[in-house]
Amino acid sequence: GPGAQPRILSSICCYCGTGCGVKIHTDGNQVLKVSGDERHPSSLGKLCSKGMALGATVRRDGSRILSAQWRESKDEPRRNIALDDACDIAAAKLADVIGTHGPDSIGFYLSGQLLTEDYAVFNKLARALVGTNNIDTNSRLCMSSAVSGYKLTLGADAPPACYDDLDHADTVMIAGSNMAYAHPVLFRRLEAAKERRPDMKIIVVDPRRTDTCDIADIHLAITPGSDVALFHAMLNVMARGGLVDLDYIDRHTEGYAQVETRIRAFTPELAQELCGVSAADIVQCARWFGNAQAALSLYTMGLNQSSSGTAKNSALIHLHLATGQIGKKGAGPFSLTGQPNAMGGREAGGMATLLPGHRDPNDTQHRAEVARLWKVDAVPDKPGHTAIDMFDAVLDGRVKVLWVAATNPAQSMPDQAKVRAALNAAEFVIVQEAFANTETLAYADLVLPAATWPEKSGTVTNSERRISRVRAAIEAPGDARPDWQLVCGIARRLALRIAPEKTRLFDYQDEAEIFAEHVRFTAGRDLDYSALDYATLDKDGPQQWPYKGPRSAPVRLYADGVFATANGRARFMDVDYVPVAERVSTGYPLRLTTGRMRDQWHTMSRSGLVPALTRHAEEPFIYLHPNDMLRHNIQDDAFVKVETRRGHIVLAAMADENLNPGHAWLPMHWGSAFMAGNGVNALANSARDPISQQPELKHSAAGISVQ
Ligand code: SF4
Repeated sequence: GPGAQPRILSSICCYCGTGCGVKIHTDGNQVLKVSGDERHPSSLGKLCSKGMALGATVRRDGSRILSAQWRESKDEPRRNIALDDACDIAAAKLADVIGTHGPDSIGFYLSGQLLTEDYAVFNKLARALVGTNNIDTNSRLCMSSAVSGYKLTLGADAPPACYDDLDHADTVMIAGSNMAYAHPVLFRRLEAAKERRPDMKIIVVDPRRTDTCDIADIHLAITPGSDVALFHAMLNVMARGGLVDLDYIDRHTEGYAQVETRIRAFTPELAQELCGVSAADIVQCARWFGNAQAALSLYTMGLNQSSSGTAKNSALIHLHLATGQIGKKGAGPFSLTGQPNAMGGREAGGMATLLPGHRDPNDTQHRAEVARLWKVDAVPDKPGHTAIDMFDAVLDGRVKVLWVAATNPAQSMPDQAKVRAALNAAEFVIVQEAFANTETLAYADLVLPAATWPEKSGTVTNSERRISRVRAAIEAPGDARPDWQLVCGIARRLALRIAPEKTRLFDYQDEAEIFAEHVRFTAGRDLDYSALDYATLDKDGPQQWPYKGPRSAPVRLYADGVFATANGRARFMDVDYVPVAERVSTGYPLRLTTGRMRDQWHTMSRSGLVPALTRHAEEPFIYLHPNDMLRHNIQDDAFVKVETRRGHIVLAAMADENLNPGHAWLPMHWGSAFMAGNGVNALANSARDPISQQPELKHSAAGISVQ
């Protein structure tokens, strides 16, 4: 506003879980530029192309939702309304439906883009006021198999390593991750480490040859979904070759005997057959891992977005437990978080399967602790719907009001036709959103205008468990408000209608007050940062958890060999290899996998606004091996129909020798807002991991035909 002063604020890039520090230069009204923050310990001043272009995403004409919108019935267009009226309408609708159909007729579908404070109030609204566990997020599509893997083996949802380990590892296995595109700043750090220490061995496990393979000593182009067979075979080689640390296994773990028995069958020769890579390469990789002074594994969606994601994560973690490669410099299993605040969201318990402070809604004691801290009588014990179930419940009418915030399920969820049918069938859909271009807006009965980066303030936690302040540099446009304010505005009104004594639960002055309440939930838990507050973050900078006071040295977990399980021992899980959910067949002969482009983010609602980013890839292609192009008589650039059992899309074909024959690859970003017809997830499979409930977005059986 008038009188605003030029200033430079430290904040965090809002794209990926690397969580790079940025400096936002403003004249008080507008963002002038964004640069890297040298003082941020996670990124040391580095940014990737997406982070560097952040300034250009701010306030592009027509890109934002500036006002609340509402339609009285599904067959009329929405009209702009005052924000107060929108909050009244939302509260009245929620109260009415809760009164008629009960609390479980309400569902919340949130986002790893939200800040921890947003999550905290959404969670309190769902559990402490509405009284439902139907609160899940797009993190279910992203990291939930990593969470299950950590909890089952190490006892807590806590990545044990830190970014400093990239500088100290001498064997690095990158599995199911195109780091060069998805976590570019971490990839550059690894690349620099390899340049300094050329003896460092890098193994990349990925069905496709990506730019990440540029620094690989061995690229294992495994058959999609065969990771467990590969990891079991590596353990087999290490066990037979005397490369496991029996003393570490004996002192710090349990369950090795069963796993050791199971992996005997997984010889390198069997793995060669199952994974489609040479037995000699598997043996070599196992030896590098087993002989390493420090072995580090970096992994993400290739492991997680799988119908056997929990087993894949567990089998990879076994390699570290069997060799004692965890809890020391340069070592450990290290999941690279997809979203900027998926970690903070889990800390705040904003998922159906979590409660605040990494607690479990199935645990009576945990529920009692949470109720006491929220100062309510009880929190609900009935299990809530996880993402895929949530939309199924909307489709068949069990969930009547769906409140979506900061995510775009009409494009990002697998089995898109079904999700869109659910959104159409819902009695009432609230969409809380900043950007005017998302596919999900078409289904909204009520739109709440949200502030976004760099207009809102709070905290995020990145992949290395580091909590940083996100700072508002400019005011939000129009009626847009920070997400937590929208939530509290509606929650207070709803409380007045259904439980007036709970109105006070949502009386917060500012984000600092929400954070102060949130950290109390972490006291005594694995992630304890109850001693942290905004003043400390402002004074001492970003801090890792567990937090016991300001520290400059990086924090890694389990250095003492004591794990977060009840008896302190890490657990080997007796997991079997199970192939992908959907087998190829005559009608669907191709193994279709998906991934990221370097310069785009998710469904492109922000990154798609920047011409400089869009130039790297202006439109999506279906990438096919040249032999498959020949076989199907497809020229380069020819339009083809790609079809799975769930739907089809039409797009241009591109020959790609980075794929094995019989495989196809598709970038994940383009939805119907950016390409003709359906978005890419019309094809994707919603088959789920039985434990994490994460869908197999990474693999479908597909057919192609020339258009
Ligand atoms: Fe942003 Fe991730 Fe790039 Fe860092 S690596 S600048 S957090 S997108």
